[in-house]
Amino acid sequence: MAEAYAWIEQSLNTIRRANWYRSPQLIASKAGAEVIINDRSVLMFASNNYLGLAGDQRLIDAAIAACQAYGTGATGSRLVSGHLPLHQELEQTIANLKQTEAALVFSSGYLANIGTIAALVGKRDLILGDVYNHSCLKNGAILSGATVLDYGHSDLADLGNKLAQQRSQFRRCLITTDSVFSMDGDLAPLTEIMALAEKYDCMVLVDEAHATGVFGDRGAGLVNALGIKQPLIQVGTLSKALGSLGGYVAGSAQLIDFLRNRAASWIYTTGLSPADTAAAIAAIKIINTEPERRHQLWQNLELLKKQLAQANIIAIATESPIVAIEVGDIATTLAIAAQLKEKGLFAPAIRPPTVPTPRIRLTLIATHTEAQINHLAGCLKQAVEKTKP
Ligand code: PMP
Repeated sequence: MAEAYAWIEQSLNTIRRANWYRSPQLIASKAGAEVIINDRSVLMFASNNYLGLAGDQRLIDAAIAACQAYGTGATGSRLVSGHLPLHQELEQTIANLKQTEAALVFSSGYLANIGTIAALVGKRDLILGDVYNHSCLKNGAILSGATVLDYGHSDLADLGNKLAQQRSQFRRCLITTDSVFSMDGDLAPLTEIMALAEKYDCMVLVDEAHATGVFGDRGAGLVNALGIKQPLIQVGTLSKALGSLGGYVAGSAQLIDFLRNRAASWIYTTGLSPADTAAAIAAIKIINTEPERRHQLWQNLELLKKQLAQANIIAIATESPIVAIEVGDIATTLAIAAQLKEKGLFAPAIRPPTVPTPRIRLTLIATHTEAQINHLAGCLKQAVEKTKP
């Protein structure tokens, strides 16, 4: 019998030989700009905790109060076991933030995307997705059974051509894109995508995972910041700027009603825990009432941009708090990440197959200080120079 599993070791060896082997870093402290790794204080440039809310006392208090009131688990799927006033409140709060008729909360952003895409399209339909879309958009597309075509990254000409050639052969068409690309940090041309969708009668699903809390004067995301008014499907996560766990879809009341009846990853999974739900509600209240956190995040980005320019380090994009820097091949990128770690900086190397080219991916937090960002830039410059022949 053991023979049947021998391939796993071989497969792991192949992954190691390709320099693709990964394992998570152990962090022994509360989320924040500074964390404890191996008994040492380290500056965190690897989290999606953009506003610093994952360690905020108000979210912690809300989570504790929800546990006290409702217990630790949601006990079953919402359609079978019922749901809490907290679930309804969170969905209303998200709909208010996004200015949509309704919203539906899933157990993660990944599940929200997979379930929504697979519910919206099927065998007779077409999905056109940006080639750099997040894994859950891609896997949702596969799961749907629709014909799936990638278009070049933010390449409107390619998207337009593919729509012109293919659209008429399919019943429904869904265009999918991240609004902020998770590994490059650049922004999708959403306004132009909406225009093409209108021309070719397509639905659009935008993943606002890295934009919610960060873009727009109320933190509602990039769709809202760009003033897009046409109907579309907004998906996102509660786990990044909102500091909790869970995902959501925001859109028309009919869309949400439909998903409650058709999205398998919502119907057949346990509802979001009371603690996560309450923490997310508390987070949205804060992003609505404390724009200074967002302003500080953008100021931190300006400082990092300035420091990188002075050090002659070119980032893939500097349009969001995700700043990715290509520093060489996989071995060089890993060596630079290791040097940064030695200096007390957690700034991870991201490698194929996650991304086409290796890079150091930095993510900023509103609570990083000027001194911390200066330190990062200085160490990065030193590490890059050390690798030059
Ligand atoms: N979409 C994007 C663009 C993401 O980066 C992520 C998380 N890495 C997700 C969706 C999944 O969200 P969650 O972590 O809530 O499952």
